[in-house]
Amino acid sequence: MARAEAISAIGMTEPGAGSDLAGIRTRAVPQGQGWRNNGQKIFISNGQLADLVLLAAKTDPDQGAKGVSLLLVDTQTPGFSRGRRLEKPSMHAQGTIKLFFTDVDVGPDALLGPPGSGFKAMMKELPQERLLVVIAAVAAMESAVQWTRNPVAPPASGLRCNVFRQFVRKPIEATHLKRQPYTLPFPMVTIR
Ligand SMILES: Cc1cc2nc3c(=O)[nH]c(=O)nc-3n(C[C@H](O)[C@H](O)[C@H](O)COP(=O)(O)OP(=O)(O)OC[C@H]3O[C@@H](n4cnc5c(N)ncnc54)[C@H](O)[C@@H]3O)c2cc1C
Repeated sequence: MARAEAISAIGMTEPGAGSDLAGIRTRAVPQGQGWRNNGQKIFISNGQLADLVLLAAKTDPDQGAKGVSLLLVDTQTPGFSRGRRLEKPSMHAQGTIKLFFTDVDVGPDALLGPPGSGFKAMMKELPQERLLVVIAAVAAMESAVQWTRNPVAPPASGLRCNVFRQFVRKPIEATHLKRQPYTLPFPMVTIR
């Protein structure tokens, strides 16, 4: 991955488990020296192109979150398949799709960390990733409002400003923005 020779995806979310990640139903059961995986994932970014999938699966369903493990699955492995590409408004290069695992056998070295350590690993790393998404979203919203309030002198890109005005038609400053500061639901952004 570091040499850009493999594209990866992370497979956590399932049709019945999103925010409640501990409720995933994908199973990894011991098979020979390794693990046999069965289940499905949804909304997986990079899923369309991924060479490797970091799969969240239950290795011990009786242990709840402590029974979740992470396994590295090569998408060439028999039993792995992809669903249709899902529609989304942006980031089209990261095809977001469903993934299906039917008796996907992997070796013992596919397990990352000890069995049952997957949930803890995800909870440690995900806040940073989610925060990056939030910061980008807030910056985009703030820029859109600023370009609309001051369309004559767009800060960085006149093209983007004009495109935005085509969608909005009327500058937002004709509405409540002129009268009162608009505070986005995050402490760091107040547009005056
Ligand atoms: C573009 C995109 C890319 C994605 N990429 C990936 C990926 O690469 N890999 C991956 O694994 N997943 C991915 N996801 C899935 C994403 O992680 C989930 O959408 C997210 O975890 C939320 O799960 P959900 O959609 O099932 O929503 P739900 O969990 O059903 O939540 C729906 C709403 O209910 C609220 N809610 C949920 N539970 C509670 C509760 N107990 N109390 C109060 N409110 C609650 C939530 O806050 C939310 O507002 C992606 C999603 C999108 C949209």
